[in-house]
Amino acid sequence: MSKPVQVFVGLGSNLNQPVEQLKRAVAALLDVVDLNGVRCSSFYSGKPMGPQDQPDYVNAVVQLETYLKPRPLLQILQRIEEQQGRIRERRWGERTIDLDLLLYGDQCIDLPELTVPHIGLAERNFVLYPLQEMAPDLYIPQLGALAQLISACPRTDLQKIKQT
Ligand code: ATP
Ligand code: MG
Ligand code: MG
Repeated sequence: MSKPVQVFVGLGSNLNQPVEQLKRAVAALLDVVDLNGVRCSSFYSGKPMGPQDQPDYVNAVVQLETYLKPRPLLQILQRIEEQQGRIRERRWGERTIDLDLLLYGDQCIDLPELTVPHIGLAERNFVLYPLQEMAPDLYIPQLGALAQLISACPRTDLQKIKQT
């Protein structure tokens, strides 16, 4: 078999004990036989994007390797969201868990149900800073060097959470 693809997944939660939700999602990813080398960044807290009348978020980024194609991978992420009771009520509204496919190797994907690199990646500090922790030398297709994106994206209220 050829080489596996390096994947980054963004995690976010602001309902029902967000830290526990993220831990549960990481455990679920670790459990999938087709996903290897799963490792998670620190957890970060930050203000919500979109509607401001919702709790603060906890975010992180997971790095993994897989031979799965993008669509089956997205289905796995959506299954984990469902298992953790994700309900969609309003755009960028509160959620138990959000799992976004940020990067799939160096590929650009433009399907009705899947855009990679993930939309908004370049403007989201809660994605860029954990990504930097995992892969500081990363180059993002269409967008450029991660270090460059970081220098243009203020950290503002994003705080690393001390893990217990
Ligand atoms: P955002 O995508 O701006 O972070 P969100 O994560 O709250 O918003 P969701 O409700 O989780 O949005 O997803 C809406 C749709 O986005 C999904 O049905 C999915 O098909 C689509 N989608 C497109 N690209 C991606 C991607 N890279 N990762 C995950 N979902 C994606
Ligand atoms: Mg999202
Ligand atoms: Mg999502």
